Amino acid sequence: MAAITLEKLTKRFGPDTCVVDEVTLQIEDGEFLVLVGPSGCGKTTLLRMIAGLEAPSSGDVFIGDRRVTKMPPGKRDVAMVFQDYALFPQMSVRRNMGFGLTLRKTPKADVARRVDEVADVLELSPLLERKPSELSGGQRQRVAMGRAMVREPEVFLMDEPLSNLDAKLRVQMRAELASLRQRLKRTTVYVTHDQVEAMTLGDRVVVLRDGLIQQVDTPQRMFRRPANVFVAAFMGSPAMNLAEAVVLDGGVSLAGVEIPLAQGSAVRALEGRNVIVGIRPTDLRTASSNGSRSDCAVLRIMPEVIEDLGSEIHVRFAARADAVDGADLGGDDLTERARRQFTACLDPNTRVTTGTPLDLLIAPGDVHYFDPESGERI
Ligand code: ATP
Repeated sequence: MAAITLEKLTKRFGPDTCVVDEVTLQIEDGEFLVLVGPSGCGKTTLLRMIAGLEAPSSGDVFIGDRRVTKMPPGKRDVAMVFQDYALFPQMSVRRNMGFGLTLRKTPKADVARRVDEVADVLELSPLLERKPSELSGGQRQRVAMGRAMVREPEVFLMDEPLSNLDAKLRVQMRAELASLRQRLKRTTVYVTHDQVEAMTLGDRVVVLRDGLIQQVDTPQRMFRRPANVFVAAFMGSPAMNLAEAVVLDGGVSLAGVEIPLAQGSAVRALEGRNVIVGIRPTDLRTASSNGSRSDCAVLRIMPEVIEDLGSEIHVRFAARADAVDGADLGGDDLTERARRQFTACLDPNTRVTTGTPLDLLIAPGDVHYFDPESGERI
């Protein structure tokens, strides 16, 4: 087992394109670290630099105390699981899984024993003589995992290993990965754009944007205390509701409603200025589901779209911003979309119809505040 250290790791494609920008990160021994971010933010490039498949423009990669920056992939003791599994079609499952060891001239009996052990863990034993074309997507995915595990590498690197599976299989494989992760306790870097995978698999999560780290944190802290507007809008589904609001004396005015500020809140010092207010859809509650809390602000909404998912109801409505609409939220589709329309996730028993006003409660402690210029959390 080994820790991974990245020091100012940078990748440029040409003089103007910096896709990974001075990333410095310590991945602990045995940690499962998830890299997330929108398409093109540099996740795969970062992973490929750790694997040795891409040469950094500058900076360093250490595995344990070895500086591996210039070392070829085969010498790094990492195993990579790709999105497309990259199995050899002409080889049986057994030969695919044992390939890495055979290459290293491991005695045949040892290869067979190790493949049998791993096949047992992954429930692949009955399939060992089949070819990849005779397997389902989920089984192929397990063979790809098995091939990585057979080698007992110090480090696992996984690039969206579940992305080619259909929704149901994906959920099943995610659960299998989670249990495997508990048992193996190997240092793993896992790339995904699926935040459910990030939330459920990661010991810690790294959110990347344009090659820059936005936040490194446990999934829970990332969700509860996003460091900036970008992370706030990216983590969580449906996305956090974001809107500009004006700070008043002891409160913040949002869509004509005053949300009280907690004692000691740093926002109190910003009276007369604009802030960005963030409220998770699950933190907008109806009066009945929230008991009789008196400290809540009441937001009267006009439901525009109602989606009944069975387990919860999503209600969309327009939230008129009170502030001058001048804040730069980063210009992403994500944040732009999020601030035009609000969503509330309500209890499935809520009586709600389009065009009939509904009162929603906002508890002051559930509200996030961000600086409209920098986007940073206040
Ligand atoms: P996705 O989630 O879509 O896979 P990603 O976050 O993994 O995206 P990367 O594949 O790391 O992103 O790519 C980051 C950026 O670098 C993209 O804008 C991509 O177009 C660019 N890029 C990647 N490889 C090259 C290359 N060989 N030459 C030029 N640009 C490249």
